[in-house]
Amino acid sequence: MVIVKNGYMIDPLNNLEGKFDILIENGVITKIEESIQPFPRCEIIDATEKIVSPSFVDIHVHFRDPGQTYKEDIYTGSLAAVAGGYTTVVCMPNTTPTLDEASLIRYVIEKGEKVGLCRVLPSAAITKGRKGRELTEMALLKEAGAVYFTDDGLPVMDSFIMRKAMEYAGSIGSFVADHCEDLSLSNNGVAHEGEIAAVLGLPPLPPESEDTMVARDCILSIQTGMPVHICHISSKLSVEIVAWAKAMGAKVTAEVTPHHLYLTDDELTEFSCNAKVSPPLRNYEDIEATRWALSSGIIDCVATDHAPHAHHEKMMDIHLCPPGMVGLQFALPILLELVKKDYLDLKKMVEVMSTNPSKLIGIKPPQIKVGEKAEFTIFDPFESWEVNEETILSKSKNTPLLGRKLIGKVKYTFYNGKVVYRD
Ligand SMILES: [Zn+2]
Repeated sequence: MVIVKNGYMIDPLNNLEGKFDILIENGVITKIEESIQPFPRCEIIDATEKIVSPSFVDIHVHFRDPGQTYKEDIYTGSLAAVAGGYTTVVCMPNTTPTLDEASLIRYVIEKGEKVGLCRVLPSAAITKGRKGRELTEMALLKEAGAVYFTDDGLPVMDSFIMRKAMEYAGSIGSFVADHCEDLSLSNNGVAHEGEIAAVLGLPPLPPESEDTMVARDCILSIQTGMPVHICHISSKLSVEIVAWAKAMGAKVTAEVTPHHLYLTDDELTEFSCNAKVSPPLRNYEDIEATRWALSSGIIDCVATDHAPHAHHEKMMDIHLCPPGMVGLQFALPILLELVKKDYLDLKKMVEVMSTNPSKLIGIKPPQIKVGEKAEFTIFDPFESWEVNEETILSKSKNTPLLGRKLIGKVKYTFYNGKVVYRD
């Protein structure tokens, strides 16, 4: 038996906000009351001045398993997830080999279950080998457990294939998610096209590269009547295009990463590969646009795009190093920063980090409710901690936040009735 005492609980789905105690018996929540008297031999978790919220759901992570487990694997990825308050993650299919066959989808699910720290769900590739030419066997992949389809890391450049993919995925009750980037416009750019790229002499990557693909996908979604999800939206115009498409009744959804909500291209001034990411960090106007779009519901959810790379890869020249940064442990402090700055309230924060992403992938959102298995996170919204090689639990440490202090720390994560993380 466990009693979580004196926590400030927030669960938008159950209209719960306030100070409550929670009693957990055999992993199941059996009581939520203002005060629960402790029993003999029951564990007490003191949550005074901490927030208890449904755990988070990240629909976009790279666990690099199978094939690139020197960067991350399902075990270390799961550790980072629960330390960030997440109990569901969706792995991207750009592994080696690509997740484009049912047996590989089952491998990810089975390994995730064996690790048992959180729910590890796979997405599958849209095209075989992510080559952009031939559609995968979506029905078989869905049956094996793929929650959606994406060639992430790469766009689907061919519009005819994208249209077919949307129609096919939609017809089997799933959807495609696109890494929106017109590679011909990106033209091997490294930094967001603007002052910083010009000053540093870095090859510029214009935002139109993202915007034109977002527009194409929105138009295809309107025309086909099928859903499409926009991965890691980052530019002001892309946000405006999604707003337009939603107003047109399109089944378009979008996610934004914590780094695109928080960091600008100023991070590149040290030519550090840790600040290279795809899409690139943009300017303050873009950040503002994504923040307001998240609070107004134009952007549906936060997804980290947790993208581990080994030290030697990030030591390469900035033109050559692979883009991406780890993110699972920083989403909460970054979102809390937006709460403190009044872009969103706590309730909205829980919605964009837990409720909305759950609904998007068709799983039951975690809830703090009598009769449910304990699946929540307890965090201290005021605790300051340093991002460093020890505090990052991921196998890779690639983030421009290294050495910086963040405020807001996960203290406990419950999954499947048990404590899976304790700070
Ligand atoms: Zn991507």
